[in-house]
Amino acid sequence: EPEITGDLDTILEWADEFRTLGVRANADNPEDAELSRSFGAEGIGLDRTEHMFLGERKQIIQSFILNDDPESRQSAVDALYEAQTGDFYGMFKAMDGLPVIVRLLDPPLHEFLESPRALEVDITRREAAGADARSLAADRELLAKIDSFVEANPMLGLRGCRLGIVYPILPVMQVRAIATAAARLRKEGLNPHPEIMIPLVSTVAELEKLRGVAEATIAEVCEAEGVELSIPIGTMIELPRAAVTADQIAAKADFFSFGTNDLTQTTFGFSRDDVEGEFIPQYLAEKLLPYNPFATIDPGVAKLVRMGVELGREGNPDLVVGVCGEHGGDPDSIRTFHGIGLDYVSCSPYRVPVARLAAAQAALREPRA
Ligand code: PEP
Ligand code: MG
Repeated sequence: EPEITGDLDTILEWADEFRTLGVRANADNPEDAELSRSFGAEGIGLDRTEHMFLGERKQIIQSFILNDDPESRQSAVDALYEAQTGDFYGMFKAMDGLPVIVRLLDPPLHEFLESPRALEVDITRREAAGADARSLAADRELLAKIDSFVEANPMLGLRGCRLGIVYPILPVMQVRAIATAAARLRKEGLNPHPEIMIPLVSTVAELEKLRGVAEATIAEVCEAEGVELSIPIGTMIELPRAAVTADQIAAKADFFSFGTNDLTQTTFGFSRDDVEGEFIPQYLAEKLLPYNPFATIDPGVAKLVRMGVELGREGNPDLVVGVCGEHGGDPDSIRTFHGIGLDYVSCSPYRVPVARLAAAQAALREPRA
C-alpha cells in the first residue's frame, strides 16, 4: 500500500496552509475512497456510478434497455437497488463526515450493450457448427433489438441525464439507494454527506426534471426511514450550451462540477474516444497545438469554464463550483482553475498530493483578493 510519510507529508501540510482551492478525489469504490482520504482528499468530487455496473449488473442494464415489459423492468431495478444501496453505504462510510458527490448513471449506451458485430460473428460461427435452431433464432432476435439501439455517435446520444429522463425508474432507483444508505448510516451514528449530480445537462429543463424526481424520492425515503436528510443536488457542466446558459441552470443547482473531458471533446469536436488513435494525436501534435487539450486545459475551453462560473454565480450566489475532468489533477490546469476562482478540483486518488501542491503554488503566485 502506498503511503505518504515523513518530509512529503510535512510539505503537503505547508501547502495546505496556502492553498485556497479545495482538493477532492474521483473514486467509485470504498478502497479508492479510503486511499484518496489517506492522501488528503477533502471529499469525493465524482463517483462515476456506471463503474459500479460491471459483469452481471451490465447484463441487467442491457435487458432493462432491450425489454420494455414494465414488470421485468421493475424486478431488474429492484435487484439493482439492493446492490446500489450496499455500494453507497460503503462509499459514505469510507468518507464519513466528508462530501461524496454521486453522479447518476452516465453510460454511453454502446458500453452497456453487447457488441452487435461480435454477436453476429458468434451466430454465424454457431450456425456453421450446426447449433440448435431455437437458440440461434433467439440470438438473432437479440441482435435485431441491439441493432435498433446502435447510434452513430454514442457519446452524443442516449447518455447522461437523457437516459434518466427517458427511463425515470433508473434515477429513482439510484436516489432511493443513496438516501437509504445515508439514512442507515445516520441511524448507526455516522455522519454521511451525499450529494447528487446530474450528468450531461444541456438545458435547465433537463436539470429541473431530474431534480424533481430526486427531491420526491429523497422525501419518500426520509418519511419511510424517519430521518431528515439534506442532500444537495447539482449538475455537471460539460457541454458548451450548459456553460453559456449557466445562469439559468444555476438557479436550479446547488453546485456545478465542470466535466472538462466532455467539454473539451464537444468544444473542439474531437472524439475523446479516439485520442489514443491514429489521427487525433498526430493532428494535435503536428498541426494544431503544442499541448494535448485533453491533458492540459485549453484556453478556449477555460474561457467556457470562466463564463460558466461567472454566469453560474449570477444565477445562484451560493453555488459551489468545482472541476472533475482529468484536468483537475494537472498542475498547469490547476493554476488556471485557481485563476478562474473555482472552489475545488477533483482528481484521481494518486494525483491528490500533486494537486495539493499545485493548488498552493497557484495561490502563492497569484493570491486571491
Ligand atoms: C468529464 O466529462 O470531464 C467527466 C468528468 O465525466 P466523464 O469523464 O465520466 O464523462
Ligand atoms: Mg463527462
